[in-house]
Amino acid sequence: MQTEAQKRAQRKYRSTAKFKLSLQRRESRRAKKLQDKRKELLGRFGNRCFICLRSPHYLAFHHLSYDNAYSYKHRGSYKQAMILKEIEAHPESFRLLCSPCHSIVTTILKDESALARLQQVVRVEQGS
Ligand SMILES: [Zn+2]
Repeated sequence: MQTEAQKRAQRKYRSTAKFKLSLQRRESRRAKKLQDKRKELLGRFGNRCFICLRSPHYLAFHHLSYDNAYSYKHRGSYKQAMILKEIEAHPESFRLLCSPCHSIVTTILKDESALARLQQVVRVEQGS
């Protein structure tokens, strides 16, 4: 149990520049760690989109089934860490996708009739 004096001293310390700097450093160490882990996982997935095989700057890990996505209720860097952990533990549940391909996939997932329309478009463009 903290005394009032201890609580006051702690509040005072937490308002100092030194404490704020240590928080910032801890946060940037955490961010760097997440970045490195993400990079490593991107490498394991071949650094390219599963569908179009391109390697644009931004690639997203797409979860094949959201049923067991218990970790998605968290937020911020903690959430990101949980997702990376999930990808590492169950890589078979994920596909790496570029933004355009990810957008098509999520459109079809939201509305299955979009797939039939997409197939019409592809057929028209192939000229058959
Ligand atoms: Zn793609």
